[in-house]
Parts: sequence; structure tokens; C-alpha cells
Amino acid sequence: MTAKIEHGTRAGYQRHTIQGVTPCDPCRKANRDYQALLYKQNPAPQRARAAARYRALARLARRYPDDYQALLSEEAGGPR
Ligand SMILES: [Zn+2]
Repeated sequence: MTAKIEHGTRAGYQRHTIQGVTPCDPCRKANRDYQALLYKQNPAPQRARAAARYRALARLARRYPDDYQALLSEEAGGPR
């Protein structure tokens, strides 16, 4: 079943994608605008948090290298 695409909207963009149809320009613009809004609404805090998490993990790995390697191997499905 294919629902009617409401062009020029984010829902339209998603509908294109679900139906496997290349999105038209108005739908692509609507999706781009939506993404830009999302990025603007929660910018720095989330990115800063992710960077902090990465730095903390790197410090833990340096502090406990053997434990880190063991955990990494375990998570990756065995030693490499
Ligand atoms: Zn469209």
C-alpha cells in the first residue's frame, strides 16, 4: 500500500524514503530545514557531553590498560 505523499513536508520526505522513491526537492528542503532546526535546538551541550565521555573513556583505558583490553575483546567477541 502506498500512501499519498504530502510534498514539501518532513512527513513527505519520510514517505518518499519508506516507499523507496527519491525525495523531490521540496521534500528534501523540508527535511533539511527540520535537521537544521534540531541541530540548532540542541547543539553544544550534547556534542560537548559526547566529547567528554570519549575523553573519560580514553583516560580509563590509559589507567587500566589490561582491563580495558579485556573488556574491549569481550565486547568485540574475542581477542584479536
Ligand atoms: Zn516530495
